[in-house]
Amino acid sequence: MDEPRILVFDIGGTCSRAGVYDVGSGRVVRSARLETPSFHRFPRASADELRSMLYASVRVLAERLGDPSPRLVSLGFPGPVNAQGIALRAPTLWGRDDRPEPVAASLRQLWPTASILVSNDLSAAGHCFLRHDEEDLCVITVSSGIGHKVFLNGRPVVGEAGRGGEIGHLRVDFSADAPVCDCGDKGHLGAVSSGRALRHQALRLARLHPAAFVDSSLGHILRGDPSQLDNALIAEAFRAGDPWASRVVDRVAEPLGPVLAGIHCVVGVERFVVMGGLAHALGERYLEKVATAAARSEWALGQDWYRMLELGEMGDDAGLVGAGRLMSRAARFDRVAEPADQLDLTS
Ligand SMILES: [Zn+2]
Repeated sequence: MDEPRILVFDIGGTCSRAGVYDVGSGRVVRSARLETPSFHRFPRASADELRSMLYASVRVLAERLGDPSPRLVSLGFPGPVNAQGIALRAPTLWGRDDRPEPVAASLRQLWPTASILVSNDLSAAGHCFLRHDEEDLCVITVSSGIGHKVFLNGRPVVGEAGRGGEIGHLRVDFSADAPVCDCGDKGHLGAVSSGRALRHQALRLARLHPAAFVDSSLGHILRGDPSQLDNALIAEAFRAGDPWASRVVDRVAEPLGPVLAGIHCVVGVERFVVMGGLAHALGERYLEKVATAAARSEWALGQDWYRMLELGEMGDDAGLVGAGRLMSRAARFDRVAEPADQLDLTS
């Protein structure tokens, strides 16, 4: 009998990926990507159009992978998802549009005979990093937004309604000019510490201290014009040790530290896996800044924040592999909102 294969998706705020996950080897054997049809990319599209475009891109990805009629589908979604596969919000996709979306039911219209599992993207990715079935860990993504999930005894803890695990929408900046988050509120962690925030923080700093920017290596490269700054340039200068870029990165790293310290204070988890495009682009020195900010936010009981934070090693594949492992595991433990027989991967 062939090993079952799962069509896996990781929907991101900027880019969506899909893959074919092989249950036997625990690996993604083929993958494809598409730019996500988000409200940033299509600012004039209506809320309903954006939702239909998302499902159209999911279908295109399946066709590109040569699996237009999959039997097993596991999709990680960038927002809180309840046990019925309904997404409560998706600010990185749909901005302020706050209507819940029945993602699992909509996928079932695409593929009526498939077994479908929809989960939060970080709940999926966390399964990629678990070293054993009972491990406690916190997985964090620092990309177009910020997300996290705490896993206790190997399970993501999100509460009965599925609203937990959303530090990206915790308010950390109460100043009058706090940046506006994709969700529409001001000063959320996702607005001050994410990939989308880096350029914003750089422009803020350049406006506040124009002479320091003009004297910096980026100021020389851009001939004193901060409007040309982008994340790739800032990350490159930061990795090369540029002091001005380091000050910009301080501004995105520092608000995250106390929030992680709060998680440690509450549940005591001591392994924090940080993934996402910005975290990987900035690298280990960024993690050190987050660790310093976390360490000074709580009392010292012997914990070592420089050891507790690590970069997620799977890169872009974490969300896909995690979605595959989550569905395999859900079938094994018979604990999702699907009839057990639909999730029996051995049939
Ligand atoms: Zn928000």
